[in-house]
Amino acid sequence: MVLNRFILIILFILPVELYASAQGLNLDWIDKTKSPQEDFYAYANGAWQKNNPIPMEYSSWSNFSILQKNMQEKLNRMMLDLSKNEHLKKGSIEQQIGDFYATGMDAELLNQQGYSKLNPLFESIQTVKTLSDFEALIPKLQMMGVNVLFSFGRMQDYKHSDRMIAAAMQGGLGLPDRDYYLSSDKKKAKIRSLYESHIREMFKLVGESESVSMEYAKAILKIETALAKASLTQVEQRDPYAIYHMMTVNEVQNLTPHFLWSDYLEQLHLGAVQSMNVGMPDFFKALDHLLVTITVDDWKIYARWHVLHAFADYLSDPLVQASFRFDQAFTGAKKLQPRWQRVEATVNNSLDFAVGKYYVEHYFSEKSKAQVSTMINEIRQSFKQTIEHATWMTAATKKSALKKLDLMTERVGYPEHWRNYHGLIIQRSSFVENVIHAAEFNNQYDLAKIGQPVDRTEWSMAPQTINAYYDPSMNSMTILAGILQPPFFDPSAPAAVNYGAIGFVLGHEMTHGFDDQGALFDGEGNLKNWWTERDMKQFKAATQCIQEQFSHYQVEPGVSVQGKLVVGEATADLGGILLAYQAFHRSSAYQRAQLIDGFTPDQQFFLGVAHVWAGNIRPEQARSLVALDPHPPMKYRVNGSLANIPVFQEAYHLKKSGPMVHEPRCVIW
Ligand SMILES: [Zn+2]
Repeated sequence: MVLNRFILIILFILPVELYASAQGLNLDWIDKTKSPQEDFYAYANGAWQKNNPIPMEYSSWSNFSILQKNMQEKLNRMMLDLSKNEHLKKGSIEQQIGDFYATGMDAELLNQQGYSKLNPLFESIQTVKTLSDFEALIPKLQMMGVNVLFSFGRMQDYKHSDRMIAAAMQGGLGLPDRDYYLSSDKKKAKIRSLYESHIREMFKLVGESESVSMEYAKAILKIETALAKASLTQVEQRDPYAIYHMMTVNEVQNLTPHFLWSDYLEQLHLGAVQSMNVGMPDFFKALDHLLVTITVDDWKIYARWHVLHAFADYLSDPLVQASFRFDQAFTGAKKLQPRWQRVEATVNNSLDFAVGKYYVEHYFSEKSKAQVSTMINEIRQSFKQTIEHATWMTAATKKSALKKLDLMTERVGYPEHWRNYHGLIIQRSSFVENVIHAAEFNNQYDLAKIGQPVDRTEWSMAPQTINAYYDPSMNSMTILAGILQPPFFDPSAPAAVNYGAIGFVLGHEMTHGFDDQGALFDGEGNLKNWWTERDMKQFKAATQCIQEQFSHYQVEPGVSVQGKLVVGEATADLGGILLAYQAFHRSSAYQRAQLIDGFTPDQQFFLGVAHVWAGNIRPEQARSLVALDPHPPMKYRVNGSLANIPVFQEAYHLKKSGPMVHEPRCVIW
């Protein structure tokens, strides 16, 4: 597992009709009954929203989902073809993809096997007699992808970015976040009680009685609530200093006297590790106390539950459906996705770079790579000027900022080296076994990097993902092949639209290097202050403005956006739009830009910005995202950002005040 909380992406869980108008401007997405003065998002996207209701099996529906689904269809065709060939070379990637897919699609086999493939695991839990037996099981389960007790993996050392270190972080919960256990909010309390009944139902499905299942659920809730109490909130985890505590193995051992780290590390072939980052020392202290106050029998129930919870989606239909019914509380989806879609996603997730290589070879155009690289250079120039002209910044800080910008690397499309999957055993006998083998293989691959020099050519996301990210430890932005498609990037669209859409994405990632978190890392990717005290104070006041602005937005009455959680992403959005706008104005394309259906080039640019986020979302999903997602809701990514941009207000001739004009204007970059 790669434990980097600070890989900042343009979107989170979310994912074309490729385009409506011949010019790629998508004027038919506009709802002319809405006023750009009151709600630009609704004006720019209202007709799209009306014409694109959320399909039953989705929690939200947006341009990302449409591209995601198209991508799944392409990759599914490839997987299906490979699965039909039973004579592929054993151990080849084609055989691995084809056989993996075949086991997931074989409904008859899955239903016949039920949960029997988990029995060996259940038995190994059953044989546990002592606390040390239980502890010996932990690394084995974690390597399979079972979330027990805590998370363990590798990360770049925040303060020595050339080192790859081991890291232990809070974890072990069955619900997505601590607040679901602790909050007095009614909707979260409801989810808590649904979770309890879900655990009961799942245990009954694997043969336990009603009364035993009820006892089990209570024991599990008790353990997880104690872990939740010791966990940091989402907002607290945004501070890199709060989750960075380098300790020697001896120090970690003293922190948790009842967990034997030397045995744990030895089992993971990490016996040589001398020190690690313990992200949340208080969590581990509390965990240690729990290890000796909870009975071994209850720990066994907890472990068994997490095995079931982790793998239910890859078992027979009754278990898959029970798992889906519980997920509905978070997603609001009305229907389970068809099998091919679930299986494609699983294979894609397990063999991500192998699938990505196929995508790039068959669908990616080198031409778009060159065009996007040119745009990145233009945006970098805009950022350089912005820093040089910043009136609030002293010369010393400017110098460091320019150095960081200069050192920032960019990667577009796909990695120069492809990782291989030699030695991963995938067979036609069991879907869940394939899932487990792939997780073990991928986790071993990650852990083997601990203690090795950092590989700066490594990518954290596979190229077929519809996304982009900035990694502060690498000081590098990565634009994945998957996002270089309409409506984000369309070589045939007017330049204004491309600058508003992909230009915005590029500027967004670049600004992450200088948002409230990125600004704490220097050009070499080290957590090290490069600001004068006065400049940092001014910068904090500016981000505070964004934080307050977004805290006033709500997704439904009583459910407010967490300004402190979204401040980094909202800063990147605001910076990204401004940089893309400046780059557009300095480009030769701007000189040639023309009116289209009465829309000026600037108006087209801002439509391009808004169209990136055209989407609909179910209330359950909106609530989940407000709790977990560091990105603002789609509507406010547009309206909240544009309300701080005077050239937008001029382009649409808006009055001096109103919902689309934020006062005082927040200015960061
Ligand atoms: Zn982002």
